[in-house]
Amino acid sequence: MSRTPIIAANWKMNQTPSETATFLEKFVGFFDGKTAVDIVIAPPFVSIPKASEFIGQSEAVDLSAQNMSPEPSGAFTGEISAAMLNELGCDYVILGHSERRTLFGEDDAFINRKVRAACEAGLKPILCIGETLEERDAGRIEEVLKTQLEGSLADVTAEQMADIVIAYEPVWAIGTGRTATPEQAQEAHAYVRSVLAGKYGEEVANGVRIQYGGSAKPANAGELISQPDIDGFLVGGASLDPDSFHEIVKAGVAEAQGNS
Ligand code: PEP
Repeated sequence: MSRTPIIAANWKMNQTPSETATFLEKFVGFFDGKTAVDIVIAPPFVSIPKASEFIGQSEAVDLSAQNMSPEPSGAFTGEISAAMLNELGCDYVILGHSERRTLFGEDDAFINRKVRAACEAGLKPILCIGETLEERDAGRIEEVLKTQLEGSLADVTAEQMADIVIAYEPVWAIGTGRTATPEQAQEAHAYVRSVLAGKYGEEVANGVRIQYGGSAKPANAGELISQPDIDGFLVGGASLDPDSFHEIVKAGVAEAQGNS
């Protein structure tokens, strides 16, 4: 089955509203209509309205948030709800990023509540999973990925799964400059797909897009995305520069066109 690649920029706590405008003015100008891949930009919350001014008029680029609350509204100081993201025109929301797991103590049960709340609100989750170096060295990759998938996807239906993107992000490769080899990434992606097949059946699993994340850059994007189970990227550092992110998008477009 051929899946449309999805290339997403996770800006983390970078790009003020004015910097967002500067980036997007240039980046959106690279595209004349829809491309062969889905392109997603995830700015910080405060820059989403500014991003929406540019992305709202672009057929090529979609908007994502980097996080959201599982709660619909109420006394949750500092939190942002799915309805708020919907109103700003977000299509996607990144959930369970390793920085949220490690720095903010988010566990699979909490992430699962967010995944279900996002699906119910019509937002497409980009669900991040991945092992630490210690877990990899201990030979625990499959156990860790399976636990994260089962916990984060508890009570998620097959219909909802069709709208969920999985981002496999080995923690040891995020922001370190150390990228998983295409073989390491492919092996993990194939395993993730097999877990999804066990839970939802082959047809659903074959339709799910699985992104690679972890020091993806123009120099390694082509080789990674040519692997059969790698369907795009979640990009941190290399997405902060419009030219470098564009080069990664181009690798996705070349792969999609080669497959069509
Ligand atoms: C990320 O934060 O999702 C990520 C993959 O970061 P980087 O590309 O900088 O490793």
